[in-house]
Order: sequence, then C-alpha cells, then structure tokens
Amino acid sequence: MKEFALKGDIVFTSSMEEFSVHSSAYLVVEHGTVAGIYDVLPEKYKDLVVYDKGNALILPGFVDLHTHAPQFNQIGCGMDDELLSWLSEYTFPEERRFEDPDYARELYGAFVDTLAVCGTTRSVLFATIHKHGCELLVELLKNKGLSAYVGKVNMDTNAPDFLTEDTEQSLRDTEALIEHWKGGALVKPIITPRFAPTSTRRLLKGLGDIALKYRLPVQSHLSENRGEIAWIAELFPEHDAYYKVYEHYHLFGDTPTLMAHCVHLTDEEIAHLAKVDVMPVHCPDSNLNLTSGLMPARRMLNQGVRIGLGSDVGAGHAIFMPQVIVRAIQVSKMYAMQHPKDKALTLPEAFYMATKGGGQFFGKVGSFEPGYAADMLVIKTPSYKDRLSVVERLQYFIYHGDTSDISERYVAGKRIDSCEAYL
Ligand SMILES: [Zn+2]
Repeated sequence: MKEFALKGDIVFTSSMEEFSVHSSAYLVVEHGTVAGIYDVLPEKYKDLVVYDKGNALILPGFVDLHTHAPQFNQIGCGMDDELLSWLSEYTFPEERRFEDPDYARELYGAFVDTLAVCGTTRSVLFATIHKHGCELLVELLKNKGLSAYVGKVNMDTNAPDFLTEDTEQSLRDTEALIEHWKGGALVKPIITPRFAPTSTRRLLKGLGDIALKYRLPVQSHLSENRGEIAWIAELFPEHDAYYKVYEHYHLFGDTPTLMAHCVHLTDEEIAHLAKVDVMPVHCPDSNLNLTSGLMPARRMLNQGVRIGLGSDVGAGHAIFMPQVIVRAIQVSKMYAMQHPKDKALTLPEAFYMATKGGGQFFGKVGSFEPGYAADMLVIKTPSYKDRLSVVERLQYFIYHGDTSDISERYVAGKRIDSCEAYL
C-alpha cells in the first residue's frame, strides 16, 4: 500500500526540549515516509485509506544503537561480575555456540522476533566472529522487515582460542560480507572491532582501511570500565588516551561512528567526541549491572555531544527500549545528586535519544516531521487511563507499559507481521 493515514494521538520529539503532540490527528504516509500530520485531512487526501486507531498513541519506532544479538540467551547471567571476568566466564563461551548454524538460527530467530515485538524498528547490532551466523542474522532481519546495521565482530588477540581469528581471514570475511550486503536498503553492514584490547594493530589498520574504502560506519566500545582503561594503557602505550587507539586507525569519526558506554571520559575527551561528532551510546542497564559507572550524559549534552541509547543485551537485561529510557533518566538523577550542576535528563530528552537522536544514525528516522521514515508504533493504553492527557498516557507507557500495549508496528510504512515474544 503506497498511501494511507493512521489516525490517533500522535506524539514524537522533533527536538529534545518537549513532546510534539497532535491529538486525534491524521499521520499521512506516502511511499514509506511521513507526508504530514493534519487535524483535518486536506482535500487532496479525500480518497485516502484511513485506519482510525481511536485514542491509541502513535509513536515513532524505537532505535537501539547498541546491542549484542548473540548475547540474547545470557540475559541475567553473571551479573555479579564486572566487565572483563563477565566476558571470559559468560560471554565468550556463549558466543562460541554460534559456530553451530542450528543454534545461531534458533537464537537469532528468537532475538529478531523479540526486537519486533518490543517495537525496536531500528537497531545497531554486534553479531559474533562467525561469518555464517552473520549471514543468518541478516536474513532473519530482512525477513522480519526490521532495519539494522549488522556488524561481524572482529577479534584476533587476548581472547580464548575458539574466538581468536586469524587476522587476514578476519579481514577477508569482513570484506566478503560487505560485498554481499552493501546494496541492502534496510539492513546494512557496519565495521565492528569488538574493542581495542581484542584487536592487534594489524587488525585495526585493516578494518580502518575497509571502513574508508567502502565509506562504512564503525561501532565499538570505549571507556566502559576502569580495569579496561588501565589495560588499554598497557597494550597501547603509544597512545595517551583510549580513543586515540581507534582514531589512529581511522575508526573514530572518519566515517559515522558509535562508541558504546563512554562512562569514564575526561572533559578533553568529551570535547574531542563533540568535535569529531562520534556518538556515544548510553547503555545504563549494562553500566549498572556490571558496576561500570554512571555515564555523565548531561555533561556530554552541554558540550554538544549527540547521544543515543542502547539496551546492550546481555550486559543489559532489558531489550524493551522504554525501560532503557527510564534507566537513563534514573541514572542521570543519581549522577545529579553527586554533581548538582549536571541536571537530570527529562523524559522528552531520553525519549528523543531513543527515537530521533539515535535515528539520526540511519538518516531521517525517529521523528514524524515530513520526509522522515514512517516507522510507527500504535500503543493502546487501558481505558481507565482515558482521563489522562496524551502525554500522561505516554508517561504511563514508558514507565509501566510492556510489549502487550503495542498493537501495531511499521518500518518505512510497511507493517511488521505479528510475532511471538521471547521475554
Ligand atoms: Zn556492548
């Protein structure tokens, strides 16, 4: 269907400051993008098909800028550990299982179905080192109709034998997948060194060269944990800051770049992030679960840094982005108690990060301004909530809602089939 309208209570954030609210209005979709929002449909749309959703909320789909598809089966495991022991005790043995195509298909299938059920219409994903598993994940996302960047993980040192790649083979596999995927409209490749400690200099150089050759975006992890930062200083003594390891190899801002966590950055490092427009991805659940720290989101916003949100499954335990929004706000409140100058995040700010803010990585995504991708969720709230305002019902959904409140999901104007959740 090329043109249609959804009618309901439309809410989105065109800026971080406040919600844009259009009560009982029409959201017109043409060729997969938003054509406009109208209180009364103009004459030119008199024959338009309208789906009246009553007083359901119509929101942009959620954008998860950092999560690990193969860690879906370890949610909740090992949460008494910190990052480095958690990786070796839980994550690496689990990622090894993705050598097995049957396991990869089963787990990635459950993960992709759950993304859809949660209303996460766009995501940026880490897979594993395994080429075949990466191909399966892309196929499942395409079949579901979801949009994503998928990264084949690269690691060639400081990891167990079963996850340590031959450097040249790792680069060849990465390039082969890019050649295979690069024409995709909704699912695309992203360069994904796991993090600097599991990368040789040769691997980082090779990945930077590939990123430049194909003009591909980059994702990795930065300054998540103090032990990790100390390890970087030992491994790469030629660089006096963690980010410089990536930057030296063209993996930090030469192409669009996401860096998960960024918990322990100095003011100078934050200023540099803003200058080269690298986006930190705030993963509050993960940072709490692995005792990594409180990300100084307000300090970054004040310096002009753009921030997205990530569920970071399986260090994060909630794949449902409204929960990540709530935790980002709660963490910022704890941070503000220790640093009174840095005010806590508001709900419009955190909602923006999970929609238009993160959506910028995909282009015109995450808002309902004209020309934006028609990624839409229809949210039904209980009838006893009808006396609340539109924004109050949104607040209820974000803080207390769950996937059963989402009755419809659309990506670029196309409805996602209903599917089973594995929550
Ligand atoms: Zn991560």
